[in-house]
Amino acid sequence: ILADPVAKIAAVGGARHPSIPLPKDLFAPGHRNSNGIDLSDRPTLEATVAAVNRPLASGAHPGDGRRGQSEGAELVSAAITRAHAAFPAWQATPVDDRAACLERLADLLEEHRDELMAICVQEAFKTIPDAIGEVREAADFCRYYAGEARARLRPVELPGPTGERNTLHIEGRGVWATIAPWNFPLAIFLGQTAAALVAGNTVVAKPAPQTPLIAMKAVELAHRAGIPADALILTPGGPEVGAALTEDARVMGVAFTGSTATAKRIARALVQDDDRPIVPLIAETGGINAMIVDSTALPEQVVADVVASSFRSAGQRCSALRLLLVQADVADTVIAMLKGAMDTLRLGAPGDPATDVGPVIDQSAYDRLMGYRDSVRDRWVKTVDAPDDGLFVPPTLIRLDRIEDLTQEWFGPILHVATWEAGTLSETITRVNAKGYGLTMGLHSRIARAAEVAEAEAAVGNLYVNRSMIGAVVGSQPFGGEGLSGTGPKAGGPHYLYRFCAERAVSVDT
Ligand code: GLU
Repeated sequence: ILADPVAKIAAVGGARHPSIPLPKDLFAPGHRNSNGIDLSDRPTLEATVAAVNRPLASGAHPGDGRRGQSEGAELVSAAITRAHAAFPAWQATPVDDRAACLERLADLLEEHRDELMAICVQEAFKTIPDAIGEVREAADFCRYYAGEARARLRPVELPGPTGERNTLHIEGRGVWATIAPWNFPLAIFLGQTAAALVAGNTVVAKPAPQTPLIAMKAVELAHRAGIPADALILTPGGPEVGAALTEDARVMGVAFTGSTATAKRIARALVQDDDRPIVPLIAETGGINAMIVDSTALPEQVVADVVASSFRSAGQRCSALRLLLVQADVADTVIAMLKGAMDTLRLGAPGDPATDVGPVIDQSAYDRLMGYRDSVRDRWVKTVDAPDDGLFVPPTLIRLDRIEDLTQEWFGPILHVATWEAGTLSETITRVNAKGYGLTMGLHSRIARAAEVAEAEAAVGNLYVNRSMIGAVVGSQPFGGEGLSGTGPKAGGPHYLYRFCAERAVSVDT
């Protein structure tokens, strides 16, 4: 199954070089984006991404680079106008038909898997296994939310002891803005969007500025699957597009995945205007995720799970392990084995099937991570060699004296390690909780009581015992955190769709 995508992405070098040629068949001759720009005409990844990121045009062909901020805002406003007008008809479309669109979209994603994988590798530097996972998860979200909608979004008859007929209707709210991250540019982009759509909302969707091409392909496929053009409109661009979206009083809900700081900015924008309806924000943000290892754990398993949790996807997952806490009496053994395992990691071109760790997403991420890594050079326990011709951040293990010393999320392949003393599991969990994030936590222990303590006391959305901390499975491991890590409800879980809905109770006296 790998031959085809590998051939398509063979041109990808180890680095993000603006001059990387796009696979020739990525965009057919004459393929135009929503701005009317011919993408097949763009010789490089960077030029194509820049072209797609120019804010959505309502028909006119923009001149290259001439769009000002206010013009961008006008174009976003035009998109909201169209989505607003499309809402009544989409809302009136039976839930089974909306669900069928998502199921057709899942089929189309699978049919176009190789092409989608190629874009993921090109644009987001996903490794081949991660690119496979990305398409898989996107299709899973579509099918899962389709099934959930069929099962849950029907009118419910409620008791009417005095003879009234009481019915609860579950309906769409209006236009939703979905704002997606670059680290899951297909799966999370589509997960948020598919949920909003199947609930009966229309959507204006903003991909991350680093990854608009995969979103464009996804929206094309969604339209082919039967979702009306005006029910789902893509507005690529940077923060100015996000601001225009969230500040528009016609937007009836926002689903956002990204940083905690941006989530707070969106929350403030939504309540700024006194006349605006009070609308829901679904935010999935970051974490300072810890794994606690006690002296009964199996070191080989611990090391395999730590390496996967910290360094897979170059550490660019919200769920990734940032802080390894090893019981003091086994710390030397575990750390020695971990150092050996880090030596076996292969850094290289994302399109090479042998690569474990690819480049990070862009220059500013690279600079931030390398700057931090350099600033704690005296605390390095282990680092590895990396190719010097690209944005490779070498996987690095950093010693901490205290759990409290790690105060922010470093979104890359950087792991911190500290020790804890026997008999203080509960206290250790409390100290991790005190950071205020609550996304993932791991525990490795063969003591059943330890797992019970973690289950009762870990203030996180996803607790993983004796396994890795990444790769939540749609429908089995609903994903999302609490506190500084987000609002809930959990993506891929049974309560997610309800937050996108309005509930209306109707009582008829008979
Ligand atoms: N759901 C992903 C996982 O379990 C993480 C999502 C994210 O990084 O936002 O690894």
